Amino acid sequence: MYDWLIVGAGFAGSVLAERIASQRDQSVLIIDRRPHIAGNAYDRHDDAGVLMHQYGPHIFHTNSDAIVEHLSQFTAWRPYEHRVLARVDGKLVPIPINRTTVNALYDLDLKTDEEAEAFLGSRAEPVEEIRTSEDVVVSKVGRELYEKFFRGYTTKQWGLDPSELDKSVTSRVPTRTNDDDRYFTDTHQIMPKHGYTRMFEKMLAHPNIKVMLNADYREVRDMIPHRRLIFTGPVDEFFDFRYGRLPYRSLRFEHVTLEQERYQDVGTVNYPMSEAYTRISEYKHITGQKHHATTITYEYPSATGDPYYPIPRAENQALYKRYQALANQTENVHFVGRLATYRYYNMDQVVGQALAEFRRIQETVPLWTSP
Ligand code: FAD
Ligand code: UDP
Repeated sequence: MYDWLIVGAGFAGSVLAERIASQRDQSVLIIDRRPHIAGNAYDRHDDAGVLMHQYGPHIFHTNSDAIVEHLSQFTAWRPYEHRVLARVDGKLVPIPINRTTVNALYDLDLKTDEEAEAFLGSRAEPVEEIRTSEDVVVSKVGRELYEKFFRGYTTKQWGLDPSELDKSVTSRVPTRTNDDDRYFTDTHQIMPKHGYTRMFEKMLAHPNIKVMLNADYREVRDMIPHRRLIFTGPVDEFFDFRYGRLPYRSLRFEHVTLEQERYQDVGTVNYPMSEAYTRISEYKHITGQKHHATTITYEYPSATGDPYYPIPRAENQALYKRYQALANQTENVHFVGRLATYRYYNMDQVVGQALAEFRRIQETVPLWTSP
């Protein structure tokens, strides 16, 4: 009999497994249907020896000291600030849109924030109430830059026009009037020094934790006696799609190793106006690895495949709320993570959510003694 069965060995499941094992001294079996730990953050050395991310580029960034402190028990870090260029009108320009972007595309020489602000302000369209992902961008930079940078990319990525998506999606990408060309401005921008998988190995190395891979919850649940369950897979799947399927967006990754030192100038290049893929990422920028070869990944959005992205729009949130109500009524089961709570969360947010759930467990779930 395990004290806890945890479904999913990504950030949500692994953070909780470690806390329960070390702080409650209880036994944990963590399972995953994939052949590896670390969930979507899984990285590995490919056949050429290049450290790459199996599920697309994962850049760690957070404003939370507590989350960094927590993860620092399991890894050292290397500083890394992500930069992204977008191929627009045949040029490679910074995204988020900043003063450099505007100067390059319009052949201008704006020198100050005020000048850039005035330029963007003259193009911005007033929007009474900002509701959609189109409103967010059009109200800040106007329709032309919206069409160039956001409309095509978003339609590819989500299979929906930005006007059909919640404002939270394109709000992830700010607009700047300075020349800061970093993708993120968080206080912590760091990568696990030896990769994510090594960090997860350390997290799960506690003697109270057992790991079982290639194991789908539906196939093994009746064979594994346990007292409580933490579920980090898709919440609709847990309830056998009782109210219908929650929409998730998927991706197909094409990984290519090239016999050359370097492929592109920055970690990621976005293709918002053309191509079937949304972006190409080159891992050596991100990992800092020195190697004679390099590995890049093309991301092709797809309606079918593994669920990667919850799709933020009102009707999906309404369906999720029905599943959430079911989840709340389900005793002895905790739902945590991006898929189980249907939230477009970054890694640090999932760690924060898992640590908050652990605090709730400590407050509400009495310690039992194992037989
Ligand atoms: P997951 O990592 O998805 O883990 C859930 C695990 O549960 C999976 O391994 C799955 O196999 C397993 N599972 C599900 N159902 C079952 C079942 N029935 N039985 C057994 N196992 C099951 N975040 C950032 O902060 N920075 C980034 O740069 C970034 N880039 C991203 C790029 C892409 C392409 C994607 C898709 C996501 C990115 N993210 C990024 C988000 C990040 O991947 C997530 O926030 C994080 O991995 C979520 O962790 P999780 O544990 O909730 O889910
Ligand atoms: N986006 C866009 N053009 C870009 C970059 C982003 O239209 O060049 C939109 C797109 O809808 C994307 C969202 O902004 O899904 C969020 O971008 P982010 O880079 O955060 O996406 P993620 O890394 O989560 O895939």
